[in-house]
Amino acid sequence: MSKHAEELAARDFAHIWHPCCQMKDYEELPSIIIDHGKGAYLYDVDGNAYLDIISSWWCNLLGHCNPQINASIKKQLDKLEHVIFVNLSHETAIELVDELLKVLPKGLTKFNFADNGSSSVEIALKMAFQYYYQTGKPKKQRFMCLTEGYHGETIGALSVGSMDLFAQIYKPMMMNNIHVEAPDCYRCPFGKKRDNCQCECFQFAEKAFAQYAEETAAIIVEPILQGCAGMRIYPPLYLQKLRQLCDKYDVLLIADEIATGFGRTGKMFACNHADITPDIMCISKALTGGYMPMSIVCTTEKLYNAFYDDYNKGKQFMHSHTYAGNPLGCAAALAVLKILREDKILEKAQEKAAYFHEALEKAFGDHPNVGEIRHIGLINAIELVKDKQSKEPYPTDKRLGYEIYKKALPKGLLLRPLGNVIYFNPPLNIDKADLDRAIVIAKTAMEEVIGR
Ligand code: PMP
Repeated sequence: MSKHAEELAARDFAHIWHPCCQMKDYEELPSIIIDHGKGAYLYDVDGNAYLDIISSWWCNLLGHCNPQINASIKKQLDKLEHVIFVNLSHETAIELVDELLKVLPKGLTKFNFADNGSSSVEIALKMAFQYYYQTGKPKKQRFMCLTEGYHGETIGALSVGSMDLFAQIYKPMMMNNIHVEAPDCYRCPFGKKRDNCQCECFQFAEKAFAQYAEETAAIIVEPILQGCAGMRIYPPLYLQKLRQLCDKYDVLLIADEIATGFGRTGKMFACNHADITPDIMCISKALTGGYMPMSIVCTTEKLYNAFYDDYNKGKQFMHSHTYAGNPLGCAAALAVLKILREDKILEKAQEKAAYFHEALEKAFGDHPNVGEIRHIGLINAIELVKDKQSKEPYPTDKRLGYEIYKKALPKGLLLRPLGNVIYFNPPLNIDKADLDRAIVIAKTAMEEVIGR
């Protein structure tokens, strides 16, 4: 590490409290100071390259410093950087919603803007709650969610999540939600396989609805892919059944597509795999190609109309964020949608996805500690187990993910394993050669930690 990098890392360590980590670890592994990015790579101030195979927290969709997205933001920047979004609006936001209407599941036609994923989840919950409050069912005050689910880390979002790693300490602050046993296809309690089951596990949802639907406003799920849980994938049939159950019991379905939207799962949205329309959909991350903090809560005419009345009736949705509808975010998002369409990114990514998964199977499949290599779109996740038979998680007495991360980094690969799950979630326009490179480095890093 150069003197310059060392000095920057020391200044960083002196005052910056980084998110979601133990700052003491920085004594041993100081911050890598990134100077610039290009395509799938990040470059530090010493010129070392890191292949960003996790899309920087799953948001970078089309590479770093993508020339078209850069140009769109720069053009917007010289016109209007920000404006209050109540009573005032701007053409870039109006154009953006016109473009979103073309790609979203049919029926999602109203858009409420915010500035990060968690905030959009808070909005979705409040919207669902208020919807029933003013449509004659004020007893519907609770929420359902799936175990192992993750929806962000603000209090409301945390309390519809089920991951103790993030939530345990704050439980006394949380809402009393109903946690429904999620599908667990790798360790199916019914002994079925993901691709030909009848979602026998859906009985857990049926039981919860039979017991609690009357007091429930909405159920929130990560459709098809539970990301933070270790990229757990479940069948589209589950979502179709959930849509029907929500209709039967008059419970709103909230799809958190923050991590899955914009082609990550091979289709534009994960809900498209099941051909369903949720009542509320949260989008963020890849929405702006990972450039700008922006999220949108998409909903239906039915919901919107329940809030539409004379001001003195008090039905308006009193929720705002300073940066809602930020023009720079909208400009980035417009460029993303244009690139996806014009460059046929999803079609090309599908072809690469097949190649990538096959190559991963070839490289990792025979390792005695590799359990499932699950995949959807370009997302692949390798779950490490004690042995293939028992499927018991690989012993996590040491910090397995962190150890593998530390081994991969000096070799030029940015991984961020989730416990005993090594995952890949690259930008959709990554080259095949870079996918190959990621496999070689990840395998070496893994074997240095757990052996061959
Ligand atoms: N929902 C899901 C499914 C997510 O993956 C995330 C972020 N990882 C969030 C919500 C929260 O988004 P943010 O970090 O922007 O608050």
